[in-house]
This record gives sequence, C-alpha cells and structure tokens, in this order.
Amino acid sequence: MKDEKKKTKIIKRIKIDADQCNGCRACEAICAAFHAEPKYSSVNPARARIHVIHDPIRDIYLPVYAGEYTPAECAGRNTYTLNGKEYDECAFCRASCPSRDLFKEPDSGLPLKCDMCETEPPLEEPMCVQVCIDDALTYEEVEVEVEEEEEVKVEDLELGLEALIDKYGLDKIMKTVARLATPEAE
Ligand code: SF4
Ligand code: SF4
Repeated sequence: MKDEKKKTKIIKRIKIDADQCNGCRACEAICAAFHAEPKYSSVNPARARIHVIHDPIRDIYLPVYAGEYTPAECAGRNTYTLNGKEYDECAFCRASCPSRDLFKEPDSGLPLKCDMCETEPPLEEPMCVQVCIDDALTYEEVEVEVEEEEEVKVEDLELGLEALIDKYGLDKIMKTVARLATPEAE
C-alpha cells in the first residue's frame, strides 16, 4: 500500500492585478537598482527582471516577470486577443530567449531571471512589491504539497529503464533482471 504521507514546501508568489497597474514603472526601476553592482549604484530598466508591457491605444499595462532562460526559440507561437486587440506573440512571455533582447543583461547579454529579491537578511517582501503603491503587485507565501520522493524515483526509474531497453533490447534486460532476482547458489 502506498504511503499517504505528504511533504509540503513554501512557495513564494507575486500576484499581479493588471487592472491596478498605472504604468509608473517604479517596479522596473527598483529591481534594476536593487540588482545593480554595487547595489543601488545605477538604475537601468534594461537590467530589470520585470517589464511592464504598455499598449498606448487601449491604455493597458501588464507587468511581466523574467522567467527561465531558454537557448532555443519557440518552434510554435501564440497570439493573444485581449479586449479586441491582438498582441504580439511574444508580448507576455517570461522567457529570456534568442528571439529578443528582453530579460538580458545589456552589457554581457546574460539572461536575467526574477530571483524574488533573495538576499541576506531576507526581505519581508520583494522590492517591486514594496514600491507598487497601487497594489498591482502583492506578495504571498503558500504551503503546497509536493510529490513523495518515492514517486519521483519511480519516474526516474522508468526513464532509466526505457533508455536501457533502447540500448540493449527488452529481452536482454529481462534476462538480466531475472538473473539478478534469483538468489545465487552457494
Ligand atoms: S510599480 Fe506597480 S503600478 Fe507601477 S508599473 Fe509596476 S506594477 Fe504597475
Ligand atoms: S521580485 Fe525582485 S528580482 Fe523579481 S522582479 Fe521584483 S524586484 Fe526584481
């Protein structure tokens, strides 16, 4: 019978309420300054790990956080229609990728990713949340259940077995398993 014991971990989350965003870009500025070397020595929004998308026609502002780096461009693309206006397929994407300059350090080209302002001692709230006076950004910590370690291991085992079967063939793997499972005669 499977062990029902569940592990939990704390997830840090920033909630975005685009309707409250006024486009002040204080979040971009403080992020860039907080991550400058040395801290607060410069304010270059191109170094920010958050970018506020602005549609001047419909007066929409949407903060987007820098996510994972990807070395390859997407093979497929999406388009978004919001309030009747079609948006650039990459507009809301969080990735640092070869398709655009967004979320890349302007001098080195290295990818930028939101690190939730991890620092020592830890902040009560990330900097962008602190400066967002209109509460477009709010911070929360939630406890979530995570997979049992055993279940993750089973997935890893399946992947490993598939690779072995591809390499040596099922028959040979089965014979080897049967041999190992049979206690050797002393
Ligand atoms: S600080 Fe808040 S209101 Fe200003 S641009 Fe950023 S998310 Fe929008
Ligand atoms: S949480 Fe910190 S690192 Fe992430 S965008 Fe906000 S200020 Fe930048």
